[in-house]
Amino acid sequence: MKLFDTHAHINDNRFDNDRADMIQSCFDAGVEYIMIPGVDRGTVESGVALAEAYPNLYAAAGTHPHESKDFTDADYEYYKELALHHGKVRAIGEIGLDYYYDFSDRDTQKRVFVRQLELARDVDLPIIIHDRDAHGAIMDILRNEGKGNWGIFHCYSGSWDMAKELIKMGYYISFAGPVVFPKSTSLKEVARQVPLDRILIETDSPYLTPPPFRGRRNDPSKTQFVAEEIAVLKGMDANEFAAIAYENGKRVFGIE
Ligand SMILES: [Zn+2]
Repeated sequence: MKLFDTHAHINDNRFDNDRADMIQSCFDAGVEYIMIPGVDRGTVESGVALAEAYPNLYAAAGTHPHESKDFTDADYEYYKELALHHGKVRAIGEIGLDYYYDFSDRDTQKRVFVRQLELARDVDLPIIIHDRDAHGAIMDILRNEGKGNWGIFHCYSGSWDMAKELIKMGYYISFAGPVVFPKSTSLKEVARQVPLDRILIETDSPYLTPPPFRGRRNDPSKTQFVAEEIAVLKGMDANEFAAIAYENGKRVFGIE
């Protein structure tokens, strides 16, 4: 199966002891491309370094809502420079709102999200959105202050109505391990309905490990289980579905 993991934090320190072996085993398992999102300046630097070391790894530059309290003008300029001049940086992300953990206060999260929307428009790159328990606030911001933005809703957890609106606005809907969990009945229904040309798959490694590996560290080879689950939901062959999601990943990140 040919796979594109469109969201994996393989620069995370949980991979420090075996990163090269882990990456090679993912390539051996059929993963051809991996997008490494940033969460702050340090992880953008380490993601970019990995993307420089491997032809089929790509990176995104952005500050996660958790870290938005530490976002500076220097970070903005650094991301902008990468976005304009570094060939392996293909998105602004991950950015958004997290009202579950509230690690940064909500006004700060919103301000930093809006600034990075502006950055993405400036440099003409897609965004990677993180949305946890903040559907309404994110949709309001995208409607009012995100005109001209487009990109990816990562680890989607909203309704089908919200997905429909996002698709009209130019977004791709990305599914991770939670779509495999047996109890995720409404999410499975959303995945069944998202049109094939707007669907992406990811692992969010090292988090969100799908069954049958729950409790263990996640890695990009597990993209396969997300592909297999959605293929069943859509009544398709798994290889055929994986190939479509793979092409979507190449298209959204502008990979030739
Ligand atoms: Zn992430």
